[in-house]
Amino acid sequence: MQLEDLSPKAAAERERGLLNTLMDSIPDGIYFKDTAGHFLKINQGQARNLGITQEAEALGKSDFDFFDAEHAEASRRDEQQIVASGQPLLDRLEHYVDNDGKPVWVSTTKVPAWDARGQVLGIVGISRDITELMETAVALRQAKDELEVRVAEATAELRSTNLRLQQELAERLQVEEALRAAEQERAQLLLSEQAARAEAEAALVLRDEFISIAAHELKTPVTSMLGYTQLLASRIQRGEMTNERTQRALQVIGEQTTRLWQLITLLLDASRLQVGHFMLDCRTMDVGALVRRVVAEIDPVLERHTLVTELPDTAIMIMGDELRLEQVLQNVLQNAVKYSPHGGQITLRVEHTGAAVAIAVSDQGIGIPAEAAAQLFTRFFRASNMDSRRISGLGLGLYIVKEIVDRHGGTVEVQSMEGQGSTFTLRLPISSGPVPPSSSALGF
Ligand code: ADP
Repeated sequence: MQLEDLSPKAAAERERGLLNTLMDSIPDGIYFKDTAGHFLKINQGQARNLGITQEAEALGKSDFDFFDAEHAEASRRDEQQIVASGQPLLDRLEHYVDNDGKPVWVSTTKVPAWDARGQVLGIVGISRDITELMETAVALRQAKDELEVRVAEATAELRSTNLRLQQELAERLQVEEALRAAEQERAQLLLSEQAARAEAEAALVLRDEFISIAAHELKTPVTSMLGYTQLLASRIQRGEMTNERTQRALQVIGEQTTRLWQLITLLLDASRLQVGHFMLDCRTMDVGALVRRVVAEIDPVLERHTLVTELPDTAIMIMGDELRLEQVLQNVLQNAVKYSPHGGQITLRVEHTGAAVAIAVSDQGIGIPAEAAAQLFTRFFRASNMDSRRISGLGLGLYIVKEIVDRHGGTVEVQSMEGQGSTFTLRLPISSGPVPPSSSALGF
């Protein structure tokens, strides 16, 4: 059927039907209101917005019947302004809560509808639901805000980490600097310590050389004085000079010179040992003969002491420096006398034991404190129990004794009980094998 075939009524009917179909197929809410805000016509989209199914349910009603008062009031104000001004309101963002309590965002455009006389007849409105868009925008904004917060936090953390690292680096640099300084200081200390030590060693060498030279220089005139004193003494003895006082004076001079000579000899020997100029002249010799000779020298001058000697009859041959061993024996015997100031018995026992000969000298004197034993043979050591004002000495005798005995391959031991006496035992190896050529000077 052609359009022009329709009656005017049918054509109008058809026109309205098409219009309704057009309006209902648009998802947005479309409505027509009178100037007082009553719905005159709505499409399906607006029915959904109002929460109804039939258009008839809305006709004659206003927003106050469907929305909360705040939203309805705002809407009414907008519409009155449109009616009064004749100006449209475009893309107005509206927010409300629907009947199910769900928040809804709509973008509304309202335009005035004019009648033929140019009067505002009502309002045509189109509302587009943009809830999803808004929710997405809100979610995006929240995500952006959260991201910004996280970025700010991460930045702050990075900054503080960076700061901490810088501080740590600065501290480490300081520590390294301090270590370098300490290392330098240590190196300098080491250098100055080495220099001080070298200086001290040089001073020691100088001192030892001085003692050696001084002792040597002193010994020559003392030897000659001693010789002349002995010569004079023997002349007096032979009756060539008889003055008694001169004889006594000569005796004192002789004794003192001998004492001086002994002290100088000790100093000279100790200094030779220090600088490595101490020589032994070893030959085959009989220990028994040596002991008898030393006893024969010492025994006559003893006043408060008794010397008892126990000697085997047979010869005991060793390789030794007779003069040095005589010095050793004299020293130990003189000590036995010196350190038993109240007298008593001194026993000298010689025993042939296996590969060695043992010479033991015992006294009944002041003895040696146990704590002194370890140092007894060191230079300048004197035990605390002897009264240095009454018993003179340099603390060098036993040091030299031990050195001489050591260089013969022997040993020196001491046994003592403080206040009861001491026994010094020298052990020297017995000579075996062929006798070496005489006068062999063994330097050590
Ligand atoms: P000096 O007799 O000149 O002091 P020595 O080296 O001969 O030096 O002796 C060292 C120390 O050993 C002595 O000062 C003394 O204290 C102690 N001593 C040595 N022999 C004896 C002894 N027979 N009895 C007690 N003490 C001794």
